[in-house]
Amino acid sequence: MTETIPEKTARYVLNTYARAPFVLVRGQGAELTDGDGKTYLDFAAGISVNALGHADPELVAAVSEQMAQLGHVCNLFYSAPQAELAEMLCQHSFADKVYFANSGAEAVEAAIKFARKYARETYGPGKTGLVAFSGAFHGRTAGALALTAREKYQAPFRPLLPGVTFAPFNDPLAAEKVIGPETCAVFVEPVQGEGGIHPATPGFLQTLRALCDRYGALLIFDEIQCGMGRTGKLWAYEHFGVQPDMMTIAKALGGGLPIGATLLTERVAEVMAVGDHGSTFAGGPVVCRAAQVVLKRVSQPEFLAQVAEKGALLKERLCELNSPHLVEVRGLGLMIGVEFDQDVAPLIQAGHAHGVLMINAGPRVLRLLPPLIVSEAQIEQFITMLRRILQETWA
Ligand SMILES: *Cc1c(COP(=O)(O)O)cnc(C)c1O
Repeated sequence: MTETIPEKTARYVLNTYARAPFVLVRGQGAELTDGDGKTYLDFAAGISVNALGHADPELVAAVSEQMAQLGHVCNLFYSAPQAELAEMLCQHSFADKVYFANSGAEAVEAAIKFARKYARETYGPGKTGLVAFSGAFHGRTAGALALTAREKYQAPFRPLLPGVTFAPFNDPLAAEKVIGPETCAVFVEPVQGEGGIHPATPGFLQTLRALCDRYGALLIFDEIQCGMGRTGKLWAYEHFGVQPDMMTIAKALGGGLPIGATLLTERVAEVMAVGDHGSTFAGGPVVCRAAQVVLKRVSQPEFLAQVAEKGALLKERLCELNSPHLVEVRGLGLMIGVEFDQDVAPLIQAGHAHGVLMINAGPRVLRLLPPLIVSEAQIEQFITMLRRILQETWA
């Protein structure tokens, strides 16, 4: 007997993920198909990754062409896709320089190192404190994990990177108590993703900006989940009228290929020298060509306006659901959390039977992150399915 894919996975792949009980074999737009030919409406988008959906023809062509022309060069050599992507990112953001990484967590690690060196070069040793917030998620690598306020994730791996202080999210007064002369950098998600889809308040981010300016600390936005058009603006920080000194991005940037980036202002970039940081794969030609396609498309004003409109439609329909268990619908653009007064795991499971993929953000929040190219008809189709799922699950 040949093993099934789930059996083979269980036997050979380290068991660190809870997986849905089917095997996805292909995708097209906002739809995925499993090995039995069953289709699913994709309202997870690989956790905010597939902004252009699956098998976007322009993305497929660009990646295939680049792979055929020049697939990999390390960073001891120049390559055009990397330089051109960096130029595009700077032209479309607050940033003056870009450091490329291979994932979100790596972009956060880079930001930690850049902040530490900036503080040391500018103010001398000792200014090493890092501040992060309750509900934050910055990644699973050692440094990023130290900034991730989740006891369950941290506990088995202590001791972690020292010098991290947590304060309650969206509480400006509490931030004033933890940010001081010893603070090197403050890390914050303008819209918290894993923590339950919580947008920051403008006043909170403005207070963080003012405190960082007062104490010479760097304000670092983690837009790995909320950036790249997800909220209806290219960067979530544009909703708040506050600019960071650094920003980490990843997830949607590569349209499905692994790439992260740390965006910096010139002031911070100036302290970094040859040999201070690096990566073998980062900024390779194929991922950078892919990212150029994604960035070009999602930065178009008409595209962003559509994300905002579709997000408003989805939110409106969710608010009309009339479920007695619904607590709150919140979020920006197509980054939406639906909080219920009980566990959402049964909804997600029922979704599989109905043909829709959803994920959670904490036990009671359904997290909706459809591809940004999702159609209005697909949003209506999703709502019809969710209505049925709610009725049959909690009838
Ligand atoms: C997903 C995520 C990360 C980690 O990114 P990986 O690519 O999984 O390492 C960091 N920060 C935020 C806000 C994220 O959503």
